[in-house]
Amino acid sequence: MRKKIVAGNWKMNKNFEEGMALTSEVVNMVKDEVSHEKVTVILIPPFVHVHPVAALAKGTPVLVGAQNCHQEANGAYTGEISAGMIKSCGATHIILGHSERRMYFGETNALLASKVNTVLSNGLTAIYCCGETLEQRNANKHFEVIESQVKEGLFHLDAEQMKQIVIAYEPVWAIGTGVTASTQQAQEVHAFIRQLLVAKYGKDTAESVCILYGGSVKPDNAAELFSQSDIDGGLIGGAALQSRSFVDIAKAC
Ligand code: PEP
Repeated sequence: MRKKIVAGNWKMNKNFEEGMALTSEVVNMVKDEVSHEKVTVILIPPFVHVHPVAALAKGTPVLVGAQNCHQEANGAYTGEISAGMIKSCGATHIILGHSERRMYFGETNALLASKVNTVLSNGLTAIYCCGETLEQRNANKHFEVIESQVKEGLFHLDAEQMKQIVIAYEPVWAIGTGVTASTQQAQEVHAFIRQLLVAKYGKDTAESVCILYGGSVKPDNAAELFSQSDIDGGLIGGAALQSRSFVDIAKAC
């Protein structure tokens, strides 16, 4: 049985003081209220907070991630951050290919494939995002889009490497809009992704990969989404900016 994951992507929110307060609240609530056998909780703050958040979470079950990294190990890339730097600050996970990165920063599947490699070569876990726009869904192209995102970003990996990947299905039309994919819509896409993994890597590997849902997850819709057989938790945006709602989502696992 896959252990569920609830990861909170703060995006470009929270100054230092606010970020530390949110971390302390989440860490304390998780210790008291969340079953660690059932769910792994991950905080994913902006880069500048990764080290202090990891320091506050050290020795607790809460893990820490980053929202992006550069594909190279180091060098003359002013303003960029490498996976090795992120690891040295105490993080274990890196989000890759969030739709905001694809949309605003032109990240392609090919670029993401090389970022996946650098994350894995540092012994970290990549949370690889995929998902269709509203236009693509309305044109009934969502399966096609997701298939190419998954295949082009991940299918160069071998089965052992694939086990180090978490996939997040995030329909772009559901991110930050308050509109959630219905439980059936989400489960249908998650099962489709799982089938892609089965066809390429076999059942054992496919069954070991966590597939998270992201897109306006809130405490009141989390339990139903997470009850689906191929939905292994959530990547949470807005509701992760507040300790109570984030921890309540983790408790819904
Ligand atoms: C996200 O950006 O990954 C996300 C799922 O955001 P929200 O929960 O706010 O829709």
